[in-house]
Parts: sequence; structure tokens; C-alpha cells
Amino acid sequence: MKNDATIRIDIVKAPSSKIKSVDFENLTFGNTFTDHMMVCDYENGEWQQPKIRPYGPIELEPSAKVFHYGQAVFEGMKAFRDNDDTIWMFRPEENFNRINKSSKRLAIPEFPKEYFFKSLEALLKLDKDWIKKGFGNSLYIRPFVIATEPGVSASPGKNYKFMIICSPAQSYYTGEVRVKFSEEFSRAADGGVGFAKAAGNYGAQFYPTNLAKEEGFQQIIWTDANSHEFLEEAGTMNIFFRVNDKLLTAPISDRILDGITRKSLIAMADVYDIPVEVRKISVKEIVEAAKDGSLKEIFGAGTAAVINPINGFGYKGEKYELPKLTESYASFLKDKLMKIQYNLAEDPFGWRYEVKE
Ligand SMILES: *Cc1c(COP(=O)(O)O)cnc(C)c1O
Repeated sequence: MKNDATIRIDIVKAPSSKIKSVDFENLTFGNTFTDHMMVCDYENGEWQQPKIRPYGPIELEPSAKVFHYGQAVFEGMKAFRDNDDTIWMFRPEENFNRINKSSKRLAIPEFPKEYFFKSLEALLKLDKDWIKKGFGNSLYIRPFVIATEPGVSASPGKNYKFMIICSPAQSYYTGEVRVKFSEEFSRAADGGVGFAKAAGNYGAQFYPTNLAKEEGFQQIIWTDANSHEFLEEAGTMNIFFRVNDKLLTAPISDRILDGITRKSLIAMADVYDIPVEVRKISVKEIVEAAKDGSLKEIFGAGTAAVINPINGFGYKGEKYELPKLTESYASFLKDKLMKIQYNLAEDPFGWRYEVKE
């Protein structure tokens, strides 16, 4: 790794911008990308200078290890434009630390912090017109790392690419969401990679999720792999349950992703005197709470949607509906968190990160 003074981001600008062809009022999440991307190669045992290039295809050998052994990790973060045109990110150091934690578990070399922040900020400045004003508008940022070394021997790659691509996003209404509590399939096991944002964790969920969709659910709430008795998290979101006026969420473990939204909500709930219990949550208690009416809300928490309310769940052939609340914790906490993100409220936690001109 080069020291700070020697970091030069090598920039090649796109010959023209695609921005005029984009309908910012009708974006589908994750399908439109900005004009530029960051690419940094790991070669000869070190990360080379980060580069910014026009967004576009990359060339890899068919034997590149990522295709065969799944050495791939990613992150998801956002940038926001406030009413004074300042650009903010939300707790980006957490994402930086987490991608290295994921990398380490997949035997991928860790990425230097200065490279991450300098190249990310250079990229955001170049593509800042893609970050639109307005509550709910944001730029979704997707850093990822892949093993690029050619060769099909089952061993960690010697070469990698660290890349960052960006996609403009609107706040979206996902429609009603009903979830299935997993009875058979598992997302993650003890000692495994559930805590990492490893690509394979997501690919492995598609088939069980398709089966759940055939039964009329949109998503699965994963239960622990050993007993399927405890509720852990959703596919890309941590999960909260409100029983009477108390919020419950599962503790972080090596099976559960340490979500930044999750821990931010826990901290905020504390400020607003919403009691939170971080503990194992059994399927049994949630089914009972649904039956006796004490289960008020279930919601998912993650960067993409911030909070995603859940309307009902299914377990062992039974379907349970949640009440429609006018004053939900979900909408209260989502509004408070987003106001911090968009610089519309004080930030007592120091979570906002300014992208300086
Ligand atoms: C990304 C992710 C989350 C949410 O994490 P945030 O940091 O809040 O975006 C939760 N669970 C899984 C499995 C995830 O991949």
C-alpha cells in the first residue's frame, strides 16, 4: 500500500454523459448506473493505484476464480443531497470496515482505507449530478471485490479487482410484503459466512425464495439452521418485531449480518425511549403474539429501503396478518433516520459524513 501522499486517482472521463437519457421519476432500483466507476487492481501482492473509468463492461478470463469458487464480496451504501446541495453519506466507515471483514473471511486481501475514501469521493464528485435533491432520492453505491486470477485450482486468487459502481435511487413503495418463516432451508450456519456480505449468500436464497413466492410470500425470514426455532433475519435486511410497545431483534452472530441500519435504529430507539430487547426470538413467541394480538409490527431494516414494513407472515401452513397502525414505530423511526441522512435534523450521533468539494 502506498502512503497517503502518493495516492493519485487516475481518472478517464466518459466522453459524454448519459444523464439526459435517464428518467429520474421512474427509476427501478439498481438498474441504472452513473457515468463512471472505480476500479482498483490487486497485483504482485499489493493494491495498485485506484482508477476511475467510464462505466462499462470489464474483461475477465473465463477461468477467473470468481466464477468458479465465488470469491466475491460487496457493500451497499448511499449518498444524499441536502437542500443546500451538500452531499452526505451515512456512516461510510462502517461499510468500509465491513467489506474488509467480509474480504478477510473469503481470503481476499483487505483494501486500504485511504484508497477507499479518496476514490469514492472522487467518483461521487465526478457523478454528483446523479445525486438528486429531494427526500427519498439518493445514490446507491455498490463497492465490491472479485477474484480475477485465471485458473481453476481451488485456492484463493492472487489477483483481485475492487470496484465501485453507483446507481441513482428513489424511495420506493414495495407494495404489501408478506414473509414466510423458514421451516426447512437455511441461509447461514454456525462458523459459516452469514455475517459476511459474500455473493454466494444471496445466490443461495433465490431458490427457496422462489418456492415461497409460489405460496404467495415475497420474502423469507430465515430461522437458525440447527433448530429452525429462532428468527434471524431476512435476505438483505435485519428484522425487528414489535410486541406491545417493545421492539425485539436478534443478536448479531456469525450467521447474521451486522446491519448499519439495524444498529442505528437500536441507538435511535434508545433516544426516543422505545424499549428494545436484543435477544433470541422464537417462532413460537411470535406466533403466540400474533394470535393474542400483542404482535403489532414486523419490519425489515437495511440501506436500500431503510425500513420495510411487513404486512403478514406464514408458518406451517397458517397465515397471520398484522394490524394496520396509524402510528407505527416503522414510520416513526424511518422518518427520524432519513432526516438525519438528508441533513434535515440534528445528528447527535455523528453519523453524517460530508463529501467536501
Ligand atoms: C446488507 C444486509 C443487511 C442490512 O445491512 P445495512 O448495513 O443496514 O444495509 C441485513 N442483512 C443482510 C443479509 C444483508 O446483506
